[in-house]
Amino acid sequence: MGKVLKAGHAPAGSGDQSTRSSPVFFTRWVHTCLLAVGMLLCLLLVSLIPVGCSTPVWDRKAPEGKLTVTDVTPMGKRVLVIAPHPDDESLATAGLIQQALKQNVEVKVVIITAGDSSKSAARLFSLKDKPSETDFRLVGDARCQETRDAMSMLGLPRRNTIFLAYADGSLNSLWNVSWDYNHLHTGRNGADHSPYAFAYEKNAPCCGSNLEKNLNSIIKDLEPTSIIYPDAEDVHHDHWAANAFVQYAVLSSHYRGKEYTYLVHRHDFPEPRSLAPLRALEPPKILKSIGSIWQRLPLSRREESNKESALKLYTIPRMMKETFIDSFVRRNELLGIVEKAKPKRIGNKKPDFTARRMPYVVTEDPSYDSAVPGMDGSDLTKVAFCTGDSRAYLAVETKGYALDSITYAFRLRLFKESKVDRLDIKVLGKRAHCERLASNSIRFNGRIPVSMRENRLWIDVPISFFSGKNACLLSVDSTVGSSRGDRTAWRRLTL
Ligand SMILES: [Zn+2]
Repeated sequence: MGKVLKAGHAPAGSGDQSTRSSPVFFTRWVHTCLLAVGMLLCLLLVSLIPVGCSTPVWDRKAPEGKLTVTDVTPMGKRVLVIAPHPDDESLATAGLIQQALKQNVEVKVVIITAGDSSKSAARLFSLKDKPSETDFRLVGDARCQETRDAMSMLGLPRRNTIFLAYADGSLNSLWNVSWDYNHLHTGRNGADHSPYAFAYEKNAPCCGSNLEKNLNSIIKDLEPTSIIYPDAEDVHHDHWAANAFVQYAVLSSHYRGKEYTYLVHRHDFPEPRSLAPLRALEPPKILKSIGSIWQRLPLSRREESNKESALKLYTIPRMMKETFIDSFVRRNELLGIVEKAKPKRIGNKKPDFTARRMPYVVTEDPSYDSAVPGMDGSDLTKVAFCTGDSRAYLAVETKGYALDSITYAFRLRLFKESKVDRLDIKVLGKRAHCERLASNSIRFNGRIPVSMRENRLWIDVPISFFSGKNACLLSVDSTVGSSRGDRTAWRRLTL
């Protein structure tokens, strides 16, 4: 009623008071209100329709504003932290580890590489201009020892840290090309098998299949309630690939527990790049609206101070990065939650990838992050995927016009129980073909139709590739000549 009375106090000239208070005025007012409410409801309903519009297929529940606060309680009784290099475990989770141990949560830490490929570290460490393969291995020994020291300072029993001891800098290669046992990767340490006596698998062959096998058996043996691993938007190639490997092992081991991600490397992270213990650790601005949903894990003054002491023990990376390491001493740590995505099934319809807004989006990628300056056609911004009765449709949107001279590759790993098929579809100049990069690559010589229009490119492939599969990983990359332009985070889809 208050609003009715307020409506009566209209400015002079808008009608006399008796008319405004009459039943006619009241009826008009009610109609206006109903119309407004109706329009609002329509707008709300339109915003909720997920099919065929620009709304991503996944449901990103968190708002862009304030981050939610969490603690270790939802992580359960067994936490597994997976780090690409010996220092990431402390940079990202030294506070989390302390809190978990305080609550009697069992913590295991897996370090994938020995951190042994930095030339400048090997030079400084060996005092030689041209360090030998042995010098690189000595750096690996020393870096792994730094992790042991830091973990024991935080209270973690020595046996709870597992070193897989693959070559530093190799993970991208293991994931992409050195997957099979007959394509081993040789690191700067001169070995194509892990040369470290303390490795989880002694003399482990350096290939993607073997690393996946190790991660798979660790997950099955430890039965963690939560796994914490690098975020898909981390720009360091080892971190990017570590994310892919863990997602792969999560699917292949049928892991059903919780997953959280952490970020270490991006151009604008952490801000500022210096010791600022009174400040909060914030995700980069662009990652507040796309990718993982970030949560804040607050640290007590004591936990933060212990983290600072632990980080001081990493002297070798400190020689190279200095303030970068200190900038992780903050009032909180960040944990990302990855939302699950399920692509749409569209029956016998054909998707309209010429629509004003890209339909069936499953991944959004930051703009202006192509490594090739001035080539906006290589800057990937959205990936779409949907399945029909006889074909599956894959599309990519770019910042500038998609070009014949740029190579676009759709990369998929398709999971069916313990069997995994691999699909790498390369598109150049409106022609597409399947690459054979590993023994599990799908062999297909049939035609793959390619369409391009303005800043969109799309293909369709036989639905039989996906028959019986229950999940897949999907990423798209672009290459200009021999230079990689952009690549999207590996997206996990439930089929
Ligand atoms: Zn790292």
